[in-house]
Amino acid sequence: MIHKLEPLPYAYDALEPYIDEQTMRIHHTKHHQTYIDKLNAALEGQKALQDRKPEDLLKNLNMIPETIRTAVINHGGGHANHSFFWPLLKKNVKFEGKVKDAVNAKFGDFDSFKKAFSSAAALLFGSGWAWLVLDKNDLRIITTPNQDNPLSQGKTPLLGLDIWEHAYYLKYQNRRPEYIEAFFNVINWNKVNEHYRAAS
Ligand code: MN
Repeated sequence: MIHKLEPLPYAYDALEPYIDEQTMRIHHTKHHQTYIDKLNAALEGQKALQDRKPEDLLKNLNMIPETIRTAVINHGGGHANHSFFWPLLKKNVKFEGKVKDAVNAKFGDFDSFKKAFSSAAALLFGSGWAWLVLDKNDLRIITTPNQDNPLSQGKTPLLGLDIWEHAYYLKYQNRRPEYIEAFFNVINWNKVNEHYRAAS
């Protein structure tokens, strides 16, 4: 199987003004595409691995030959993370459902959760991701460097935020906290609930 870039589930300008059209277009058609191209290149000749989903590869890094393991972590992670990220973005979705109950139970209330998630995302040094994960049935906020995916640590991602500069630099330049604040306007809580239901 050759991995291919799926279309976004919405128009490039659907998240304006929080995430701008040009950023979405370049992020999807250039950055995401490049991870896919490099994953395909790394898996060339690896018949058994080519047919597995990137998420399966990331959950089972031991089965990846050492010669291509780093490439699979970086580019398989890049593909999986972005495929996970796009459907998590939507305007005007209410914070509700089972995930709301679980977040409130764990963090106290939405504002405390938002503060903790935003702070983790803002403090991450360099490029990476901030996540809300399910870790042995416990909700946790974590960050990962580069394109590392929580699945490789046995954790299930429910929500993820790309905090590479390519995700926000055109609109927000060095103002990462503003991008993080904007993200909270475009979280598709229905999708987060879907992930939570599937994982718990
Ligand atoms: Mn990205």
